[in-house]
Amino acid sequence: MTVRPRDDVALMEGYHSPQVDVRVRLNTNESPEPPPAAWEDDLAEALAGIDWNRYPDRAATELRAGIAALHEVDPAQVFAANGSNEVLQTILLTYGGPSRSAAVWEPTYALHSHIARITGTGVAEGERAEDFSLDLDEVRRVFAESRPSVAFLCSPNNPTGVVDPREVVAEVLELAEAGDCLLVVDEAYGQFAPWSAVDLVDQSRPLVVTRTFSKTWSMAAARLGYLVGPAWVVADLEKVILPYHLDAAKQLAGTLALTHVDAMGARVERLVAERVRLIDALRELPVQVWDSGANFVLLRPNAADGSPGMRARGDEVWQGLLDRSVLVRNCSSWPRLDGCLRVTIGTPDEDDAFLTALREVLA
Ligand SMILES: *Cc1c(COP(=O)(O)O)cnc(C)c1O
Repeated sequence: MTVRPRDDVALMEGYHSPQVDVRVRLNTNESPEPPPAAWEDDLAEALAGIDWNRYPDRAATELRAGIAALHEVDPAQVFAANGSNEVLQTILLTYGGPSRSAAVWEPTYALHSHIARITGTGVAEGERAEDFSLDLDEVRRVFAESRPSVAFLCSPNNPTGVVDPREVVAEVLELAEAGDCLLVVDEAYGQFAPWSAVDLVDQSRPLVVTRTFSKTWSMAAARLGYLVGPAWVVADLEKVILPYHLDAAKQLAGTLALTHVDAMGARVERLVAERVRLIDALRELPVQVWDSGANFVLLRPNAADGSPGMRARGDEVWQGLLDRSVLVRNCSSWPRLDGCLRVTIGTPDEDDAFLTALREVLA
């Protein structure tokens, strides 16, 4: 007997992000702070009221109403799922699939192309400019050559931190509209950025914006994400998602979090201030560092004299940090990111521990 996965799945590599036990964990862009204590209390009380023998509200009515109120849209324009990755997967299951393609501009969030492939969707790959900004001529080229059904932007982009300007996203939306393509703007880090594409969402335009409770909202463990878009997209996605996919506890966790928006906002402000401090400190060191609109920073240690090259230097510095119990994301071997490391903004103490370890490693 030989049970084999699909040929394309057999050739795939899974998602790798090591969960190592270290003192300072700055590798997955989680919030360094727990959610507000009052939210935990509210949730504990609400959990006691769940009818565990019953299926949860399939439409997640209260949760969607809360998200809709936050963004000042209609609840019919909100689709929620188990993390924004499940939102992305549902989009691709609905609008992608065999004989269709999804466009990405690299470097960007690896799961856009990975989930596309898993759903049998082709990947139309474009390039970002040298400084990681989006080049509209390159966007036009990909639309013209590949006629994608779905196009992904990520702003602020992971792993570079680059925010795409409003005019650029508006222009890409025009191109998507002309090409009968759904534009997805992944705003997993949207709250850290100066503007949001949610403002461009319109019932008659093919644009959705995805968000997550995992990063800003200090709730990575809850696995909750959503999109805001036209109601017709939400109706299409509802046909594809499994029934009762959002469990009762998660619906409560999300609904209650939305009653603590101010405390969440305070967390964002602290992280943005800390990001400024961290970038300033990195600029004093022999590393290249990019501006960021997110809760992480991309950096590239300068190659040392006689070092075997950028990629090896990145690996070496990553290992040196790990030896000092500081874990960051090693992007050294990723295409277009030779020798780069991505560090999540932590608490001031964690960031100081990172800076101290980095100074030692670079010395
Ligand atoms: C973390 C991240 C996500 C996934 O978040 P979940 O809601 O935890 O699934 C999506 N997009 C980007 C760009 C991310 O960095």
